[in-house]
Amino acid sequence: MFRIRRIYDEVLPANRNALDQVKAIMRSRFAAVPAEEIDQLGRHLRDPFLKSFLTILFVAENLRQRVQGFAFLLHEPKIRFCFLDWIATKAGMASGGIGGALYDRVRQEAAAFGARGLFFESLPDEASLCPNEALLIENRKRLRFYEQYGARPIIGTAYEKPYKPGQTCMPHLMFDGLGRTERPERDLVRAVVKAILERKYAGYVPADYVKMAVNSIDQDPVQLREFRYVKPQTVSAAVSGRPGDRIALVFPDRHFTHHVHEKGYVEAPVRIRSILKEIADRSHFEMVAPSEFPERHITGVHDLDFVNFLRRTCREIEENRYVYPYVFPIRNKTRLPKDRYILAGYYCIDTFTPLTRHAYTVARSTVNCALSAAKEILNGRRLAYALVRPPGHHAERRSFGGFCYFNNNAIAAQYLRAFGRVAILDLDYHHGNGQQDIFYQRADVLTVSIHGNPGFAYPYFSGFSDERGEGEGEGFNLNLPLPEAVDGDRYRKALTVALKRVVDFNPVFLVVALGLDTAKGDPTGTWSLTPRDFEINGRMLGELGLPTLVVQEGGYRTRTLGINAKHFFEGLAVAHSAAIPIKWPSN
Ligand SMILES: [Zn+2]
Repeated sequence: MFRIRRIYDEVLPANRNALDQVKAIMRSRFAAVPAEEIDQLGRHLRDPFLKSFLTILFVAENLRQRVQGFAFLLHEPKIRFCFLDWIATKAGMASGGIGGALYDRVRQEAAAFGARGLFFESLPDEASLCPNEALLIENRKRLRFYEQYGARPIIGTAYEKPYKPGQTCMPHLMFDGLGRTERPERDLVRAVVKAILERKYAGYVPADYVKMAVNSIDQDPVQLREFRYVKPQTVSAAVSGRPGDRIALVFPDRHFTHHVHEKGYVEAPVRIRSILKEIADRSHFEMVAPSEFPERHITGVHDLDFVNFLRRTCREIEENRYVYPYVFPIRNKTRLPKDRYILAGYYCIDTFTPLTRHAYTVARSTVNCALSAAKEILNGRRLAYALVRPPGHHAERRSFGGFCYFNNNAIAAQYLRAFGRVAILDLDYHHGNGQQDIFYQRADVLTVSIHGNPGFAYPYFSGFSDERGEGEGEGFNLNLPLPEAVDGDRYRKALTVALKRVVDFNPVFLVVALGLDTAKGDPTGTWSLTPRDFEINGRMLGELGLPTLVVQEGGYRTRTLGINAKHFFEGLAVAHSAAIPIKWPSN
């Protein structure tokens, strides 16, 4: 069993680890490649302009994340071609279909880029060009493999001509039409040869050789060698669509025990069920079981005494009893009352979020879900969804409220932060006061929130546009309060501003606090977003191409929750799989 995964960076531990294994395979398989060139491989992922190609690395890895093979694909967006720079499997192992699977994946990627052809080099299979008998056997096997896709050497040019005296076994330039049977045009091949020799072989090939090789391409269209190993009618050249990354879906199994049976308490277990019902059969998702994480992740963003208070107090509450905070410390904030139930007001921001016997344990398992989904991102997954309740974005450093106990998205962001800058984008109808409070003085986590103006919307005391962060964090909190009546168009104007700020911040990870209470008919909101709007919003987020963790926040109209979530993820997944995470300079 193996899977093919694209490695986008050398930031995440799982990616760094894969890249190290790729380098080790290269050293063992390609002894002639200079050591410094292998050491540079990671830089090409970071800096695609290094040789004016966008570098894409695919690895085939087994279930224990051992790399079995890899392929480096170069994309040239102006001439519109792809060049397969390296493809190799681990030494000593029978390919077991790995080489074929990697080549298939490379073709899908090249086709998705709209490349006019996939080019690469392959060593010759004729004794007159390659005197080494053992090598010849290998070369024939390889050319036979490519012929099955219709890919063959370009002939009638001087590409194989040595550029240094004594060189033998010069490679053919190969052409794979990616399902098209026409031969390549002369101008395309000329431009490709020039780009490869000048950029990839910069410093090796003299300028007059480049000119000679380019001018030698004079037939139009260029000729391909006749099939030598397979019958043309057996060729299977069609390219299938590029597979999108599936979204890791994590949800809690024990949330039902936290159920406040009171009129108007809309934060109920049915919320998760109604979303799951719509998305569980969707091919975009892959369920991942949550794992346990230590409490230090929670105390990384919440005060220890607050966490202790929640744990101890909830434990003492009888089944089906609700402890509502009702006295709040406007004065004498330092004198704590002895009675734990009265103390609830010291740690809470409102009177409608009760403590229950199970509130702590359920909130704790919710945190585990958010962290498990974040861990999927660290393992190289591009999209993950923690479908959780109770929500978390109103929980501040030392207080609960607004149905929230622990701030799931902030805890996940803090966890990801160890590996790179994080932007949190809160799309709930209500202001994300929790993560604003937690990261208010920090510049390494950007907090952005689009919400109903606190003049009329909960939490009333925060969410104003002049709250911009403090100290080092100044300028790293952005609030976009909107009026009471907002439709999809108006919302997207704000979302455009929010995304621009996210892009300027240049984060490694995006955390989305997804509230669905912006929807038409939500009992806690006043806006009118439709399923179609959610799909467009998802698409706009996906176009950023960032590793994205979505954490469920509010959304209470259970009749439409699922359908809106489904549309949001549809837009997100489709746009994300097509996104090129690197912006090319306009010149
Ligand atoms: Zn909300």
